[in-house]
Amino acid sequence: MNPSRYFALIPAAGVGARIGADIPKQYMQLAGQPMLMHVLDTFAEASAISHVYVVVSADDDYIADLMAAAPHLQGRVTVLFDGGPNRRDSVLNGLQAIREQAGDDDWVLVHDAARPGLTCALIERLIVALRDDAVGGLLALPVVDTLKRSDKNTQDARVAQTVARAELWAAQTPQMFRYGLLVRALTLAAAVTDEASAVEQLGLQPRLVEGSPRNFKVTLPHDVALAEMFLKEE
Ligand code: C5P
Repeated sequence: MNPSRYFALIPAAGVGARIGADIPKQYMQLAGQPMLMHVLDTFAEASAISHVYVVVSADDDYIADLMAAAPHLQGRVTVLFDGGPNRRDSVLNGLQAIREQAGDDDWVLVHDAARPGLTCALIERLIVALRDDAVGGLLALPVVDTLKRSDKNTQDARVAQTVARAELWAAQTPQMFRYGLLVRALTLAAAVTDEASAVEQLGLQPRLVEGSPRNFKVTLPHDVALAEMFLKEE
């Protein structure tokens, strides 16, 4: 018997500049519906998830239409207009906004809106692996390529160093931590690009749970076709 609940928190307040679209990335059409809708549908279908929160920016012009087109999400998804200047702020603001709803021991699964390939099976795998864990953890994939560090961040870069790939994993989301720990970690950590790094800065070691290539982050224009391929597989 596990009395803790599981909440989903989806930061969706970014603009996704690298994809070069004229609307924020999370609202781009993918396989017939906005990218964010795929993510909301998956969490809404996941029976272990008590409720889904999505964090958008205060001046978001798209979420109202998306929710109006999705009556099946009513009662399962709450929109929080609390986005911040970066992902960490959006997540922390969202956590603070649900203070009344979440207990310190409840689990929060933080998931990028830009990973529409997530499935209920992956959510289930993460929860089963972590529900009795003292720290929490994340979906991630072992690195298979040989990694090179470049000497500069420009087109004419050269190899400065080969980085041994043994023991390296590429972090995905959801990242699953207890509410109280996550608020504490993110409050103390200013410059982090995921929740696990904030928790690591407290001296804790999040668990790595194997994710899936289909759960990749849609970032660049050519990612769109690959994401659609995975989504149409369902
Ligand atoms: O830009 P990137 O794809 O790395 O963003 C990861 C996630 O963080 C996306 O879901 C994006 O909408 C979200 N984000 C946010 N607030 C920001 C920047 C990014 O919620 N200010």
